[in-house]
Amino acid sequence: MSNGLKGIKTVRDFELEGKTVFLRLDLNVPMEGGKITDENRIKASLPTIQYCMEKGAKIVMASHLGRPKSKEDKEFSLEPVGKRLQELLSAEVILVEEPDSDATKLLLQALKKGQLILLENVRFEEGETKDSIEFAQKISDYADVYINDAFGASHRAHATIHALPSVMKDKGIGFLIEKEITMLDSLLQNPKRPYLAVMGGSKVSDKIAVIERLMDVVDGFIIGGAMAYTFQKAQGLPVGKSLVENDKLKYAKEMIERIEARNKTILLPVDHIATKGISDTVNAHATKDVGIAEDELGVDIGPQTLRNFSAALKEAGTIFWNGPMGVFENPAFAKGTFGVAKAIAESDATKIVGGGDSAAAADVSGYADKMTHISTGGGASLEYLQGDKLPGLEILRTKVR
Ligand code: AMP
Repeated sequence: MSNGLKGIKTVRDFELEGKTVFLRLDLNVPMEGGKITDENRIKASLPTIQYCMEKGAKIVMASHLGRPKSKEDKEFSLEPVGKRLQELLSAEVILVEEPDSDATKLLLQALKKGQLILLENVRFEEGETKDSIEFAQKISDYADVYINDAFGASHRAHATIHALPSVMKDKGIGFLIEKEITMLDSLLQNPKRPYLAVMGGSKVSDKIAVIERLMDVVDGFIIGGAMAYTFQKAQGLPVGKSLVENDKLKYAKEMIERIEARNKTILLPVDHIATKGISDTVNAHATKDVGIAEDELGVDIGPQTLRNFSAALKEAGTIFWNGPMGVFENPAFAKGTFGVAKAIAESDATKIVGGGDSAAAADVSGYADKMTHISTGGGASLEYLQGDKLPGLEILRTKVR
């Protein structure tokens, strides 16, 4: 068993026949106009739900969706998710509008085989984000076994993630969390070498802690996206109007020195796609070298950089990818990100994608199925990798020596 799971039970450890299982899932899927635009998180939740069904459990599922301000924010209703679950499970999913009402208890008494309960968005309840014990107790009143499979929410001390298992005796994780932690642990313990971390996205500041942690574990960093400009400005290179975190220049400079002092590599862009404005596709061009003109900004890595990055990735034994190489939401500036996705996909390495934007990029680029693992939790996977304890996991751990 991987280290991060020590002292934590899994859904396999419980006798479920006839028991009421409370399944905290991460069904927080992106939606547009009431339609689900990416159902990866729903699909990733199925194995645990199906296992509980097969074992004859009475199932109460719960999740958050977005950040509703009140119950009136119907755009955050889990109704469309319930409908999709119903199709995928070929079972009836009954939505309970008031997660903290007695409706669930009553329904459970009459629940038939092939029926499951889905609580409406738990963030409609004020108690959820307050980690309320009262809210948790209402649920523990009817639940026999608590299972957390919401990896993407496990870094939050919210009621259905933290307070609830704190008042329950029988508690554990589902198959998704088990897989996520096992995969992330493989990045921290004996990764196949060379191990490269590909970092991108908009901000260095969001990734400092994880860079710090990985510095002793990886053999090299590949840095792209707007993050790279902070490093390049720190090296005294002209970055024009590119997005830069001026208060992180000193850190960036020291980080390059520390990486090099450890005889590790840091690959930065040697050319860029530059243009006059963030959505200006007309003036976009590849720069002839590493510099960016004063009136321009970098929006993607350039062709030579992509070749350099791809060559390094081809030789890797382990790859962790977090953050796009450019403004990939705009197809005109997506070549670098999709090219890196391709290079990662084609490498023989163990390749793990750290959720969020990189997961979306892997999906859109068409290479998602070539990755070893794509995390369903961007924030949670970064926090875990940087060594933070996830409240949703810690509360499930029995003390072991
Ligand atoms: P993050 O949330 O920090 O992983 O950043 C992801 C965001 O970074 C995406 O929305 C990208 O559009 C953005 N991004 C990547 N490269 C650049 C760039 N060169 N300039 C501005 N934004 C960028």
